[in-house]
This record gives sequence, structure tokens and C-alpha cells, in this order.
Amino acid sequence: MSDNTPTDKPINFIRHQINDDLDSGLHTSIQTRFPPEPNGYLHIGHAKSICLNFGLAQDYSGKCNLRFDDTNPAKEDVEFVDSIKADVKWLGFGWDGEIQYSSNYFPKFYEYARELINKGLAYVCFLTSDETREYRGTLKEPGKVSPYRDTSIEENLELLAKMKEGKYSEGECVLRAKIDMASSFMCMRDPALYRIRFDKHHQTGNEWRIYPMYDFAHCISDAIEGITHSLCTLEFQNNRHLYDWMLEHLDDFNKLDRPHQYEFSRLNLEYTVMSKRKLQQLVENGLVEGWNDPRMPTISGLRRRGYTAASIRDFSDRIGISKVDSMTDMKILEDAVRDDLNVVAPRTMGVIDPIRVVIENYPENQVETLQAPIHPQNENMGKREIFFSRELFIDRADFQEISPNKKFKRLAIGKEVRLRNAYTINATTFDTDFDGNITTVYATYDADTLGKNPADGRKVKGVIHFVEATKALRAEFRMYDRLFTLENPGKNDNFEALINSKSLIVTYGMVEPTMTNAKPELAYQFEREGYFCRDNKDVNEIIFNKTVSLRDTWNG
Ligand code: ATP
Ligand code: MG
Repeated sequence: MSDNTPTDKPINFIRHQINDDLDSGLHTSIQTRFPPEPNGYLHIGHAKSICLNFGLAQDYSGKCNLRFDDTNPAKEDVEFVDSIKADVKWLGFGWDGEIQYSSNYFPKFYEYARELINKGLAYVCFLTSDETREYRGTLKEPGKVSPYRDTSIEENLELLAKMKEGKYSEGECVLRAKIDMASSFMCMRDPALYRIRFDKHHQTGNEWRIYPMYDFAHCISDAIEGITHSLCTLEFQNNRHLYDWMLEHLDDFNKLDRPHQYEFSRLNLEYTVMSKRKLQQLVENGLVEGWNDPRMPTISGLRRRGYTAASIRDFSDRIGISKVDSMTDMKILEDAVRDDLNVVAPRTMGVIDPIRVVIENYPENQVETLQAPIHPQNENMGKREIFFSRELFIDRADFQEISPNKKFKRLAIGKEVRLRNAYTINATTFDTDFDGNITTVYATYDADTLGKNPADGRKVKGVIHFVEATKALRAEFRMYDRLFTLENPGKNDNFEALINSKSLIVTYGMVEPTMTNAKPELAYQFEREGYFCRDNKDVNEIIFNKTVSLRDTWNG
């Protein structure tokens, strides 16, 4: 096997296969597709598949289609079609040519079904679903042939036409492939190709009464589009036999360069659920705010939470592609976003649990404007204005009456710290409320310490953040934690009961006044606090969603 992968990406078994197929001349270029079913919003598992399919097309100068696998009118909706398009674009990928819909091929599927009947390879079967199950047999025992298996070709063509015309009711009959009722692959035991559905379809309206099954529609759609490598997840491994059977038995497609299916392991992420059905359940039962709730593993949720497209692409590179089923540590996703935001996020200061500080030796009614870097390691990002006056806010956790030990680098009575981007201050005394909670700290500042160390050589080790009180804006902070309390909640039938009641905690604090212009979804580093972005829903409010902490702070 040669290694002509055109990038520095690690070679995986799919890239090996592509290299071989290009080397041998089987294909001169590759074509992949991302085939979502429009029955929900995309999640981070889909992102893995998107990065794989679109990524391979990019790396090999091939093509990747976006194809809506819309063969089930009952569960699908244009709302999902639109959100999927938006999410793929947002992730930074563009599809080649027009968007494809499996429903565009409905007339062709019908012709291919007739071809199979004409070859004696398909028949209309009137067994009930219970009977069909019984006839199918088990892994240990072969199935029994259907009494309808030997209906004549002419009659089958007529029956299929009647199914199409709506002459039978839903569930009354199906079209089945005639393959092998004794096959060790259950999917080869005369699988259904067409079933009757009277629902209205979001693309074709009431035109069709019969809808193709996945195993019939998918391989044909791939072949019509000239897909070379059809990548899907491991649970379709056995279905590959049916995929191959179908294309080998249709004259248009039985060629060497027809599409082939390859399976990779799906992404499972800790502390969340990934199946669209389960995510939908959370939405419908009001357990989250919607598909784009920032705790959801959906692309739209992650985006609202402040995740960048680059970090999701990087995550997908970090986890790689293999055939081993596993559970991915949430940390890998968080590390990816942290590493990206550390480089790109503008810095700002926000006080999440504020207490007031009065600088007693600072003039009253004076507000000073100071300059602070937008990014300490990247001068090109420029500077921002911050303010300083006699009244400030600092975080409650940054003050203690008595410094507990020498390592304590925050403010205490008689202990000096630097206010980030400003002066050093020394606390003198404080007030409490009736319950003993600290309300105000009194301090003095050293006017000669702006941007430099104290003149007398004394060392000031701690740095804490602050905001100036008169100009600061009150902000809502939405602090997120894992959505579920268990690593693999999906395994549990009653997964709804496993929702982490502390997965969203709302608090109110103060932020720099320029944050009134913060753009939704653009994450900032609130220095010493973590990464946050403005919520994209209530854009007129000052609401910040916590994206991720500065360091890995999970203790699980
Ligand atoms: P779900 O189980 O969440 O409903 P699905 O497989 O039914 O997912 P589709 O819309 O059919 O969802 O998926 C579109 C593509 O995304 C498929 O090629 C599928 O293999 C891939 N995909 C879906 N979930 C994952 C996942 N967790 N990891 C990797 N790829 C995935
Ligand atoms: Mg599916």
C-alpha cells in the first residue's frame, strides 16, 4: 500500500483504501457524500462524519455532496433541512453542486424496483409484520420463505403499480428483494425495499404512496451520484452485503468503479446522549430549552455556547477514524475549544460574584481611562479601554480577611495585590451585612504602579481582575455543567431521570462596559474566569454563556 495522502493528516484505513483505489486507477478522483436524514438537528457525531466526508474531498481534490436522505415522510421536516444546511456551512464546508435529495430519485427507485421484479429478484409480500418477523427466523435458525415469493413477474409488476397508486393501505404489503431466507446475514433474508406511507412528504407532497427503505435507496442514490467511497458507521457493517447485492444486480451500476461502502466507528461522547430520537425527547419534554440549548451536543447548541467551527474540526482530527467502538472523553472536546480560544479569544474582565472595593486614597468623581491589551500574546489584536475610579468590583473569592497562607496570591487585609491592567492596591478594612457576608472592602492604591513595579522594590505577587463600578454593566452569567450525571446515560431506559440538576446555574455579575457590543457566539476570555460568549437568542440582554473553563476543572 502506498502512502500518497496529500496532507499531514494521520493515515487511517479509509485513506489507505482511497490511496489504493487511486493508485490502481480504479478511480481517477474521489467523491463522498454526507447523507443526513432531516429528522433532527445535527450533533457532534454528525460533525465527525461531516469533517470526514468533506475533509477527504478537500484533501484529495475530490467532491462531496450534501444529500438529504429523505425517505421517511413521517418524521422529516423542512425546519431540519434548513438547520442542517446552516450547520454544515457554519462548520466551514461547502457541498459540490446542488443539494441532493434522495426524494429526487423517487421515479428512478421505482424503475429499479421494476428491474428487480423483471429479473425475478423482487416480489410483493402480503404477510403481516408479525408473520414477517416469524418467517424471518433467528440468528440460529434459517427463515421460511414467504408464500408470496413465487408470484409471477407480471403479477408483481401489477401489484407494485397498485401499491404506488394507493390501492393498498399502510402496512398491507411491501415490496421485498428475493435473496436468501437462510443467509447468516439477517438483512439478506428478503429485505423490504418499498413500504406504503400516506403521510405528506416535505419535498414531494402527496405524489408518492410508496417510500423506499434505506438499504434500497442509499446505495442507488450513491451510485446515481457517482459516489466512490460511501462512508457510514459500524452498525451498517452487515448491510454492506445488501449494498453490494443491490448494485451488482442493477444493470446501470454493476461496474468495477461502482460505489463501495466502508464503515467507521461512531462518536459516543461521555455525559451526553447522541441519538436524535433521545435529543428530540429532551426537547419535546422541555428538559432543555430547545435543540440549540447550550448544554446539547448539537452543532447549534455548541455554537450558542461559544464553540468555534475550527475547534470542532480540530476535535474531529484529534479523535481520528477507526473501527473500534469507544466512548470519547468530554475533555478532548473541551481541550480542543480551549486551545483554539486561548489563541483567538479577545480578553476582557468580568466579575461573576462581585463585592465592592472603595479605594480611599483615590479622588472622588474621577474616572480614569486605561489601556489593556485585547490579547496579551498578540499585539496585533490591539488594545481596549478600561476604567478605574474610587469604586470597583472584585470577585468575592479574591478577598479574605486574613491571608490563609503564603501561597495565597489574592487580596487580604494588609496584603497587596495588583489589579490586572491597573494599579496595586492594599486592603485596610471591610464591611459585612447582617449575615456576616462581606459587602465592601476598603483599600488604598499606589499611584506609581501603573504598568510598572513599585518604586521601592517591594514584590507584589498576586494579580486579580476587577471592573470599575460606575461604568460596569450588569450581566447574567449562565454557568453550564454536564447535562447528565452518568457517563453513559443513553444506556439507561429512563435517561431523563439522569439529568444533572446543576447543569445550568444562573448568576449575576458585572462586566466591562464595552461588552455591550459583544457579538453573540464570539467567545471572550474573561480573564481568570474562563471563556464566555454572548447568548445568541436574547441579543438585547447582556447574557453570557460559559463556553469552557480556563483549565480542565472536572473532578469526575
Ligand atoms: P442518530 O442515531 O443520531 O439518529 P443517524 O445515523 O440516524 O443518527 P443520520 O442523519 O442518518 O443520523 O446521519 C447522517 C450521517 O451521519 C450518517 O452517515 C451517519 O453515519 C453519520 N453519523 C450519525 N451519528 C454519528 C456519530 N455519532 N458518529 C459519527 N457519525 C455519525
Ligand atoms: Mg440514520
